[in-house]
Amino acid sequence: MLRGLTKQFAIRRSTVTALDNVDLDTPAGAFVTLLGPSGCGKSTILRILADLEQPTSGEAFVHGEAPAATRRNHHLGIAFQDAALLPWRSVEANIRLPLEVSGVKVDDRTIADLIKLVGLEGFEQARPAQLSGGMRQRVAIARALVVEPKILLLDEPFGALDEMTRQRLNLELQRIWTERATTTLLVTHSIAEAVFLSDTVAVMSARPGRIVAQVEIDLPRPRTPEMMRTARFHELEDQLSALLFDNASAPASAASAAVEEPVG
Ligand code: ADP
Ligand code: MG
Repeated sequence: MLRGLTKQFAIRRSTVTALDNVDLDTPAGAFVTLLGPSGCGKSTILRILADLEQPTSGEAFVHGEAPAATRRNHHLGIAFQDAALLPWRSVEANIRLPLEVSGVKVDDRTIADLIKLVGLEGFEQARPAQLSGGMRQRVAIARALVVEPKILLLDEPFGALDEMTRQRLNLELQRIWTERATTTLLVTHSIAEAVFLSDTVAVMSARPGRIVAQVEIDLPRPRTPEMMRTARFHELEDQLSALLFDNASAPASAASAAVEEPVG
């Protein structure tokens, strides 16, 4: 949950407002997506929630806990576009890592269940270099889930993958989210991905990053690939697309409006 979240970065002698007064609710068990153009502050929001960055003003809470407490209590799972696996460790050893680091006893059953959950049975002893990009992201998601987080933060987890793999992993992610019922905050710039996965999509504007609208995705669950071809799916895509492009570049559109405006 974010309230009045503002983040400014000092760059040389000027200040950049990356986030301006952002409010967002992440209800327990919900799948919420941040959709916005590059540089609008999506990763900054996740970094604040992960206690990797401090807000300039405003508050962030996850199920009533401040980010520092969330991190201390291992209530947070995070996965990025780059899986960032340790190359010398096996799949299984990479997934175990967060538990080892936090000194929690590692239960072999937990690891085996997670490997099954993300569909990597038979690859337990493989090294990251032996896996495809999609498989590495599965490992990253399993590793994020190993602490049984209260919130899962996913920063463009499938952004570097081809479209087919991405769609397959979106189906997998929906299944994982359904089985685990973990509150999830996804960052993406894919409109279709946002509609397919989310309960709520928060659309952000370019700098300064603001939430311009929150759209409830009323498609029934479970979502299926066939649904992506329905009229309602396209309607939601169009709605989000209009919100994105109307707010993507305010200064540029103001300039072009001025050019197109007939004189007198
Ligand atoms: P997104 O993830 O939506 O692409 P980011 O959250 O990474 O956007 O960045 C939002 C804005 O804040 C950008 O303009 C970026 O240049 C700026 N920014 C992010 N981190 C820093 C930093 N550590 N120092 C200075 N500026 C930053
Ligand atoms: Mg980012």
